[in-house]
Order: sequence, then C-alpha cells, then structure tokens
Amino acid sequence: MVGLGVSGALYSASRSIGCPGLSRLIATPTPSLITPRPFSMAVQPPVRVQGQVVQGFGRGSKELGIPTANFSEEVIERLPTAMDTGIYYGWARIDQGDIYKMVMSVGWNPYYKNEKKSMETHIIHDFDEDFYGSWLRVIVSGYIRPEENYNCLDDLIHAIRNDIATAERELESPSQLLLKTDAFLTDPVDTNQS
Ligand code: ADP
Ligand code: MG
Repeated sequence: MVGLGVSGALYSASRSIGCPGLSRLIATPTPSLITPRPFSMAVQPPVRVQGQVVQGFGRGSKELGIPTANFSEEVIERLPTAMDTGIYYGWARIDQGDIYKMVMSVGWNPYYKNEKKSMETHIIHDFDEDFYGSWLRVIVSGYIRPEENYNCLDDLIHAIRNDIATAERELESPSQLLLKTDAFLTDPVDTNQS
C-alpha cells in the first residue's frame, strides 16, 4: 500500500505532512478514521511479553503526545509468528510500578528493511519522566485494527485517539479486568524470564 509518509502502525510523525486547507479537502478520507470502530477482538490466549525498554526509531512519537516504549529485537523475535501486525490493547507495568492500560502497535521494523517486526507500547498514563532501561511487562489481550496509512497527521492523531478510547472501554470488561491481576504482571520482576 502506498502512503504519504505518515505511518499509523508506528505512531510516528517525522516524515509526516500536514493536511490543512485544500489538501485536507481533497484527501481521500479513510472510513475507519471517521467512525470509531464499535468492537474489537479478544486475543486468545493473551500474549505475555517482557523485556527492557530500549531506544526506538526516534520518529517523533513523543512530539505527537503519544510516546511508545520499544522492546529489543531479541524480545520481538520470541513473539508468536502468527501475531498479525496492527493495533492491539492490553495491560502494562514498568518495573514494580502500577499496572496501566496500554495500546500497542505491532508493525514492521524499518531498520531491517521491514523484514522484522517491531512492537511499540503506549501506556495510557502520564509519567513524570522517561523510563528507558526499565523492565516493561505487557499482556496483549485485544486487537483493534490492522495497520493503516494516513493522508495526514491529523488523521493519524484522530485514529490513535480512537484506539485509546477503544482500549479504555474494552479493558473495563470483566474478562479483561481479570488479566490485570495475572501473576505475570503482579509477581516481582524476574529479568531472567524475558
Ligand atoms: P523512541 O523513539 O525512543 O521510542 P518515543 O518518542 O516513542 O521515543 O518515546 C518513548 C519513550 O518515552 C519511552 O521509551 C519511555 O521512556 C517514555 N515514555 C514516557 N511516557 C510514556 C508512556 N505513557 N508510554 C510509553 N512511553 C513513555
Ligand atoms: Mg517509540
């Protein structure tokens, strides 16, 4: 698929274009951007992933107000191969901190000519400072949508806000709330079990 340099999958902004005025009017709208998706799918069984937070692609996620914590290549190589790219949600914990809701993008890693996957987690919480080097545990328990390309940055931001709203809502269901108490998240950190 040909995009205009705005990558929804990686929640990135750096090669983005704005879409003010005329260009916004003639941009072809993507239907899913206009109407929030009414439902999502549970990931069964949920996928548990943990590892150190590493430097990402530096493509400006934080400038969009949506920083995404990245896992290392080694951690991603252990993902189930059948895991589709797209936008997911679930629960996340940094070190021994609180457990928060998260949205996650699973995409293709530009450093490896898009032959390896990447996994970027936006934790739905305002942290006082960065936590590079910390231990991140996530339970991926729901799937929202496939990757999409966007005509402009506004559309990308709108889509991400919809993803966050979907995650916030879906994670309130009893089966999703139960996962917040999963031992994988509540046990002390075991850095040998990545
Ligand atoms: P990078 O390209 O290095 O991943 P980002 O702009 O995506 O840079 O910022 C990611 C970093 O921001 C994370 O590694 C983490 O240290 C920090 N951060 C702060 N708040 C959050 C949050 N709510 N969710 C994810 N990361 C966050
Ligand atoms: Mg990032």
